[in-house]
Amino acid sequence: MTTAKPPVFRFAPSPNGYLHLGHAYSAIMNHRLAEARGGRFLVRIDDMDQGRARPAYEDAIFEDLAWLGLDWAEPVRHQSAHIPDYLDALDRLDRMGLIRRSVATRREIAAGADVAAAAGTPWRRDPDGGWCVPEDDLFLPPEVLRKRRETNAPATLRLKMADALARLDAPLTFREESDGPAGETGDVALDPALWGDVVLGRSDVPGSYHLSVVIDDAAQAVTHVVRGRDLFYATAIHRLLQHLLGLPTPVYHHHRLILDETGRKLSKSQGDTSLRELRAKGATPSDIRRMIGC
Ligand code: GLU
Repeated sequence: MTTAKPPVFRFAPSPNGYLHLGHAYSAIMNHRLAEARGGRFLVRIDDMDQGRARPAYEDAIFEDLAWLGLDWAEPVRHQSAHIPDYLDALDRLDRMGLIRRSVATRREIAAGADVAAAAGTPWRRDPDGGWCVPEDDLFLPPEVLRKRRETNAPATLRLKMADALARLDAPLTFREESDGPAGETGDVALDPALWGDVVLGRSDVPGSYHLSVVIDDAAQAVTHVVRGRDLFYATAIHRLLQHLLGLPTPVYHHHRLILDETGRKLSKSQGDTSLRELRAKGATPSDIRRMIGC
């Protein structure tokens, strides 16, 4: 007789700032669902961006989670310890002919978008508001493009979206246990094409969030991804990458966001909602739970 494996949940903060009320909500939701379903709760440190990660923030993450009364399974995975895994995935996609190298800088991309808009052929924006950059950097002056390519200038690695989609024989779906921004729930189909040739790696950060999250979730056998609704549409990219790399697909649960009084999503730069700051002002873990309604 085979016994079903317990479900695995994870909370995956990046150590580039202090946890705020939104993180507390996400961590508590993950912990609570794991407990209710007899599952495991993991904490993962998303420290791929070593330029922004700080050991002090990482220490604070563990301290704040413990203060909230949460416990997690060890060992904790650090992305920075698994760089070869992300490079290997990029290499596989490259060998499948699905990676293009873009040598345009952010500033050149912004300028390219302005020129295209002025010419009456505006570029599309992705669901996060970023530019869907046209193929092959042809908006750069040919001389600049040639020189950069010849000298192997630092490049951004992008997924060739049209070629990746051509490999699908059916639309991708995923199971949403909660609901998306427009009430999407149950078996949801999203269109990865909305994201254009999405960035999967850069010369300074070996795997983008989109690439690393699918590798990490698979490596940790995560069965349930519980995270903020702001990442709902990004799940289309994650499903596509899982398909291309032959990785399993977890169930998704995109929860409501904790907003500030002006209705904006909290960010790490807003110190006043950081758990440290609130604790320093005398808040208790029960106060925090009350503030976020859980
Ligand atoms: N490190 C990511 C974040 O903090 C994790 C997102 C996810 O849960 O997929 O936004």
